[in-house]
Amino acid sequence: PIITRFAPSPTGYLHIGGARTALFSWLYARGAHAGPGSKFLLRIEDTDRARHNEDAVTAITEGLQWLGLDWDGEPISQFERADRHAEAAHQLLKAGKAYKCWLAGDGLDAAREKAREAGTRFTSKWRDPKEPTPDGPYSIRLMAPTEGATVIQDEVQGEVSFPNHALDDMVLLRSDGTPTYMLAVVVDDHDMEVTHVIRGDDHLINAARQQQLYEALGWDVPVWAHIPLIHGADGKKLSKRHGALGVEAYRDEGYLPEGLMNGLLRLGWAHGDDEIIPREKALEWFDLSGIGKAPARLDPDKLAATNQHYIQDMTGEAFLESALPFLENSPSDAQMERLARAADDIKARCRLLSDIGSAAAYLLNERPLEITGKAAKPLKQDGAQEVLAGVIAKLEQLDDWSAEAIDSTLKSFAESRELSFGRVGPPVRAAVTAGLPSPDLGITLHAFGRIETLSRLADQR
Ligand code: GLU
Repeated sequence: PIITRFAPSPTGYLHIGGARTALFSWLYARGAHAGPGSKFLLRIEDTDRARHNEDAVTAITEGLQWLGLDWDGEPISQFERADRHAEAAHQLLKAGKAYKCWLAGDGLDAAREKAREAGTRFTSKWRDPKEPTPDGPYSIRLMAPTEGATVIQDEVQGEVSFPNHALDDMVLLRSDGTPTYMLAVVVDDHDMEVTHVIRGDDHLINAARQQQLYEALGWDVPVWAHIPLIHGADGKKLSKRHGALGVEAYRDEGYLPEGLMNGLLRLGWAHGDDEIIPREKALEWFDLSGIGKAPARLDPDKLAATNQHYIQDMTGEAFLESALPFLENSPSDAQMERLARAADDIKARCRLLSDIGSAAAYLLNERPLEITGKAAKPLKQDGAQEVLAGVIAKLEQLDDWSAEAIDSTLKSFAESRELSFGRVGPPVRAAVTAGLPSPDLGITLHAFGRIETLSRLADQR
């Protein structure tokens, strides 16, 4: 079985980089190749109690749920496992693989500074004490190898070697008895039986330290896969400057979960030249070998285009249901009817759900219309009044108020008067839409319905 986990720190929102990490981990555990018993687990790294609050956890779980990334079992709180972490540190102490250290405060700073100046590895004098050990509180440090190298076999980065003289004896348990992050992660991943650690490559150096700890504890090292961080379109590390960073901000901007998920998948993972990879395909195809070594660039335009694809896949009805909350005002019954009749067309002009406001503006504009400037021009052209009068007469008699029937009525009217359609269409459109962007005239008038259309035409006479 494959057991992966997502281990966010509760920062108050689900960062889009975190969401991508979660997606990769979820796909790997849920994918076609993962055998029975495979799991995707969620662990909240809430050891920094000052930052912990329930809202921050909720922001993460809601973000994951919205994306459809379900986890197995209850989310695990790292903080609640502090006793177990301490137990592991004491186990190492007993085995002689860790030691008590009384360096703290100024003494510690001075010792570090001395090593830095000498250009040597910082090693606490308590690793090999030459004087009697004091009473008082102590921290527990790993007795890490001082020579050789710690070599990470990473599924994405390949073999990465860290000289051990550059990795000092890390603290496992602080003098107040609280575990360090490094200890907590290793003990948790081990106890959760995590087989594959998939996370951002900002954790690569941590992997070296964590591997030393696994080895000291005599535990199997998980498979590492450190994915390059996401960069902005300018090639710089993703930051606030690049716009939305939280998943919820994308949701509020009008992304569909499927659209954002596909976009995130393509940030750093590729399957040939495929851009549109729906969830089922991703589950079938995802593997660690498809993860790129170079940082992916977040291109907002491409992301929106991907989302558009999923919007086009919706039925008009489903689209409306999802997009309506993005309208500034909730539509009246009459407006709802218009929206329902034009749903397919509105949908076709939306990249994000929130585009409904501009795509449907012509349907939501109520009489009396203000038609000014360029929009009024067609109504002022020669013969416009006769055209409106003639069109009203024809449309009043039209039995079948369908887009096709309306179109052919307008065309045959133009022919019967020996007018080019350029003399008929524009004044009619101007009178009904006040010049707001609108689809084919037949679709437009059909959406408004007979009474509303005739009233709008009459208003301009
Ligand atoms: N809590 C860490 C973070 O949010 C992740 C640690 C890990 O995945 O091992 O960056």
